[in-house]
Amino acid sequence: MENVNVVIAGPRGNMGREAVRMVNETEHFTLQAVVDSKHDGMKIADIDGLPALDIPVYTDMEHCFSEQSVDVLIDLTSPAFGRKHMEVAFNHGVRPVVGTTGFSDEDIKELRQLAEEKGIGGIIAPNFAIGAILMMKFSQMAAKFLPDVEIIERHHDRKLDAPSGTAIKTAQLISEVREARNQGHPDEHEELKGARGADFEGMKIHSVRLPGLVAHQEVIFGGEGQTLTIRHDSMNRASFMPGVRLAVETVLGIDTLVYGLENIID
Ligand code: NAP
Repeated sequence: MENVNVVIAGPRGNMGREAVRMVNETEHFTLQAVVDSKHDGMKIADIDGLPALDIPVYTDMEHCFSEQSVDVLIDLTSPAFGRKHMEVAFNHGVRPVVGTTGFSDEDIKELRQLAEEKGIGGIIAPNFAIGAILMMKFSQMAAKFLPDVEIIERHHDRKLDAPSGTAIKTAQLISEVREARNQGHPDEHEELKGARGADFEGMKIHSVRLPGLVAHQEVIFGGEGQTLTIRHDSMNRASFMPGVRLAVETVLGIDTLVYGLENIID
């Protein structure tokens, strides 16, 4: 495969640090620069906790793209900045691969329109772990036969959005094969607000945030005299990197915005 020039936004974050390592260790990827919220004009080597690399740090993405030759932007920041970064990338002919979660349906629709106007591909994946994609696919399969389902997602307590992008995506995939239906007792009421979780077409989604967790999800199906639990655990951020690498390779060959890693793996 030909060399791919990559820029990473959010290099000091939990995900960004792993991405710096992955890109640096992938033979056909070249890390051209990083975009951080501070350290403008410095080198990656000057930032605590990052490898000793003589690669420039920018705080302004426009500035970065005007000085560097870039094929792909990997964004691992926050929804507000992630969206802005994607727009700047499309406007500079750079293909974004985005792990940042918390985009609305409207964001995705508008970003897809921009990608198609420019004729440049992009990928947003709320979960880059291959096992999590399988969890979603197996859940969709199970929901055809067991339509009563609740989702419990657990994440570290620095996560900003709830429910997680993966939980919403799982519910969306299940809703493609399941008629919307209310679950639980028809007369149930909450003694404490939120006790039954968020509601997606009658499916309940519960979000746990605790230190010590990484990213975990259970999809629990209930039927007459039986339950089925499909569970995935990401033990560390390295679990996401094969998916990020695959997305960087795939984004070079597409000309629209793809949402979800399940759409690029067979
Ligand atoms: P994190 O540890 O909080 O890191 C986020 C990083 O982004 C921080 O270093 C932050 O810097 C930086 N940042 C914020 N605004 C920026 C800007 N405008 N320019 C450059 N850098 C900026 O979060 P994380 O755990 O790495 O997660 C990052 C995102 O990925 C979140 O949206 C998370 O939900 C998502 N995520 C996705 C997956 C997946 O598989 N798709 C997996 C895990 C997490 P400051 O601290 O200075 O603000």
